[in-house]
Amino acid sequence: MEQKLNALLAAAKAELERAQGPDQVEAARVRYLGKKGELSAVLGGMGKLPPEERRAVGEIANRVKGEVEALLADATARAQDAALDAELKGQKLDVTLPGRGRPQGRRHPVSQTLDDIVATFARLGFDVAHGPEVEVDWYNFEALNVPADHPARDMQDTFYVDGSWLPKGAGPALLRTHTSPVQIRLMQKQPPPVRAVMPGRVYRKDSDVTHTPMFHQVEGLYVDKKVTFAELKGTLDAFARAFFGAGVKTRFRPSFFPFTEPSAEVDVSCVMCAGKGCRVCKQTGWLEVLGSGMVHPNVFRHAGYAPGEVTGFAFGMGVERLAMLRYQIDDLRTMFENDARFLAQF
Ligand SMILES: [Zn+2]
Repeated sequence: MEQKLNALLAAAKAELERAQGPDQVEAARVRYLGKKGELSAVLGGMGKLPPEERRAVGEIANRVKGEVEALLADATARAQDAALDAELKGQKLDVTLPGRGRPQGRRHPVSQTLDDIVATFARLGFDVAHGPEVEVDWYNFEALNVPADHPARDMQDTFYVDGSWLPKGAGPALLRTHTSPVQIRLMQKQPPPVRAVMPGRVYRKDSDVTHTPMFHQVEGLYVDKKVTFAELKGTLDAFARAFFGAGVKTRFRPSFFPFTEPSAEVDVSCVMCAGKGCRVCKQTGWLEVLGSGMVHPNVFRHAGYAPGEVTGFAFGMGVERLAMLRYQIDDLRTMFENDARFLAQF
């Protein structure tokens, strides 16, 4: 019996050394160690042995089984290596192929424009201030000298929101229709001088080619002793040249805003046609870009400043409008559709 077991081991060793590939290794495993394999067949005869021999044969059988298992493990590893080598030999690597590009994100044109506006005023010495988008009537209208019967307070233009969370008498609550209320909050918080721009989202009930219910504004405020209209003109002229290019001209047209007196609309020479006249500037050669004026004394009073002691100027501009002019986009709504093909152009 011992001879049979040793012969089995020798045969298994010879077969596994010759084995080619995982299929032949598996066939050898089944033949020697399987349930109906040769080892089982030899051990099946053990019952006929006298007990003292049975024990010795059992030990030999266990040793042989262990050795065959070790041989199988080696043969399996060799077969796997050989299969991998064969697979790699069949492959070709062309190191001259161009790499695959990774899609790269970028900032939205409105964000780029807003950042540029803020950075330009920062170079002119302006700080940056922020305020809440949900406002109360007083900050959005009353404090800015917009009387109760002014058309801008019409339900058509303003989104009113639930103000039940406000202290009694503080409401009504609304989504701010402009960034101007931040002026009041800023002046209430600090004594003059104040020199800051206030960027942010504003909301109006409007939706067409040139209006969206939400858009962005940048508000500016400069208050100190003896601030003049000449400084207003100089500041906005410097901004226009920094933002649109050194060759751009500005002009100031008399206008009306409740919170400034006197007030002026600011135009820049058309950036599309350099002032010659085109479709964008409606053949006038000029583009309206922002509103401005000297801060109204009532606004100072509401903010807690003494109108006789300080003067100041304020201005406001629509960020989307400036982005459309800069990038020559003619439908405002494309700014908010977030079509990646559109946004990838900027
Ligand atoms: Zn033009």
